[in-house]
Amino acid sequence: MSLYPTRLSASSLLATGTRAFVLEKPEGFDFSPGQAVDLLLADASEGEALQDVRHAFSLVSAPHESHVVLATRMRDSAYKNRLAALPIGSSLQLDGPFGSALVPPAGQRPLVMIAGGIGITPFMSILRTAASQGWQRSLLLLYVNRCPQDAAFLDELQQLAEQLPAFRLIATMTRMDDADDSWGGPRGYLDEAAIRDFCAALQDPLYLLSGPPALVESMRDLLEDAGVDDDAIRSESFTGY
Ligand SMILES: Cc1cc2nc3c(=O)[nH]c(=O)nc-3n(C[C@H](O)[C@H](O)[C@H](O)COP(=O)(O)OP(=O)(O)OC[C@H]3O[C@@H](n4cnc5c(N)ncnc54)[C@H](O)[C@@H]3O)c2cc1C
Repeated sequence: MSLYPTRLSASSLLATGTRAFVLEKPEGFDFSPGQAVDLLLADASEGEALQDVRHAFSLVSAPHESHVVLATRMRDSAYKNRLAALPIGSSLQLDGPFGSALVPPAGQRPLVMIAGGIGITPFMSILRTAASQGWQRSLLLLYVNRCPQDAAFLDELQQLAEQLPAFRLIATMTRMDDADDSWGGPRGYLDEAAIRDFCAALQDPLYLLSGPPALVESMRDLLEDAGVDDDAIRSESFTGY
C-alpha cells in the first residue's frame, strides 16, 4: 500500500449519526470500486494506540469522481471524536487502497449486494461506477436499516434505481415501530424466503456482503441455508462494530 497526503474538504450529515467526509483526491491515487483505505489522522504522535489514529473505511466515491468520499457512523471513540473535531482544510493521510473481496469481477455475472447500515459504503462506489459507465449487468441491492432516517444514501439509491435500468433496490426497515418517518416499502429482516424470492430471476449471481461482522455472518448463513454455494459469496466485515 502507499501513503497519500490529503486534506479535509467538507463534512456533512448523511443520516442519523452518520457523516460523510470529503477529501481532496491525491495525485496518483487510483482504486477500484469496492476497495477501502486506512484514514490516518495527521496529528498522530508516537505512543498512541493505533486504533485511535488509524481506521479502515470503504471508499464511497467512484474512481471517476474528483474527490475521495468516506462515510462513517459517528460514535464516542477517541478516533471518531478527533475526526469530528477536524477543521476543514486539515491535513490527513490515506493508506491504500486495499481489499479485493467486493471488487466486481469483469463480465456480465449478476451481482447481489447485501448491506446492513453503514455497510452500504462500498456499494455506493460500485453503483456510481455502474451509472457512469452504463453497466448492463443485473445489479440487486438488498439494504437493511432500522428506519429511513438511519439509511445513508437512500435518496441517491432511489435515483440510481430510476436512472439505471439494470439496477433494482430493495430497502427494508426493521424498526418502524419507533420511527418518526413513514415507509411504504418492505419491513423486517431478510430471511431465506425473501432472499430466494428477490434473487429468483437472476442467473448464477455473485453475492457481495458488507457491514458489521454479525450481520455479514448472519447473511452468509442465510445464503448457505438457501443453497448458495460458498464460492458465490464474497464479504467484507467492518471489524470494530
Ligand atoms: C475493510 C474495512 C472497511 C470498513 N469500512 C467502513 C466504513 O466504510 N464505514 C465505517 O463506519 N466503518 C468502516 N469500517 C470499520 C471502521 O474501521 C471502524 O472499526 C468502525 O468505524 C468503528 O470505529 P470506532 O471508532 O467507532 O470504534 P473503536 O473504538 O475504534 O473500536 C471499537 C472496538 O473494535 C476494536 N477494533 C477496531 N478496529 C478493529 C479492527 N480493524 N480489527 C479488530 N478489532 C478492531 C477495538 O479494539 C475496540 O475494541 C471498516 C472496517 C474494515 C476492516
